[in-house]
Amino acid sequence: MKQLFSMKKLVLLTIGIILIVTAVVLFYPSSTPSAEMGTSYDAAPSADTQPTKGEADAPVTITEFGDYKCPSCKAWDEEIFPQLEQEFIEEGDAQFVFINTPFHGEESELASLASESVWEHEPDAFWSFHEELFQQQPEVQSHDDPWVTPEKLVEVAETNDVPIDEERLASDINQQTYANRVQEDIALVEDYEVEVTPTIMVGNVKVDDPFDYEAIKELVEQQ
Ligand code: CA
Repeated sequence: MKQLFSMKKLVLLTIGIILIVTAVVLFYPSSTPSAEMGTSYDAAPSADTQPTKGEADAPVTITEFGDYKCPSCKAWDEEIFPQLEQEFIEEGDAQFVFINTPFHGEESELASLASESVWEHEPDAFWSFHEELFQQQPEVQSHDDPWVTPEKLVEVAETNDVPIDEERLASDINQQTYANRVQEDIALVEDYEVEVTPTIMVGNVKVDDPFDYEAIKELVEQQ
């Protein structure tokens, strides 16, 4: 009789443990996702004056802090961005914002000045210019191999699908016409403690791993 009672207790205890483990497995991961996938800030970076793609009233903003000189940004633009574009930006669920993050010296600054000029004067030409600039980045390069020059930037504008006024672009690069815009970007880089490129934010959350598409997707869907 005593033996039977212990068996009963053992069975109940086992069922209890199974229930607790199941509950933890089912509910724990979805309760703290953003803490695991990124760092939260009070607000998303302001998109005022920044190049944007997608609908302005989309419920979520995806921001890239990027550098045309950075090999990882080229890889991100080729591997991750097309998926986000197809799944969320073209569907009107997210708007994409690009912020210049000139971490690699003078060449980064030249490319930033060019992109600000194109966005200011020919916003319809901006995204094809942006993509073409990443495509023109040499496949094998260290950060120190030079390839961005004012001439190269104008050449990229010439090969662009949408016409760009090349003389004005050359002048804007050489006169540093939009240096103030680049400075505004650098201020955001500091405000959001951006240390590597690319850094991706979904709304107000800075994503830990910009190449983790599933994490970005989950954050977009949550917001
Ligand atoms: Ca900018």
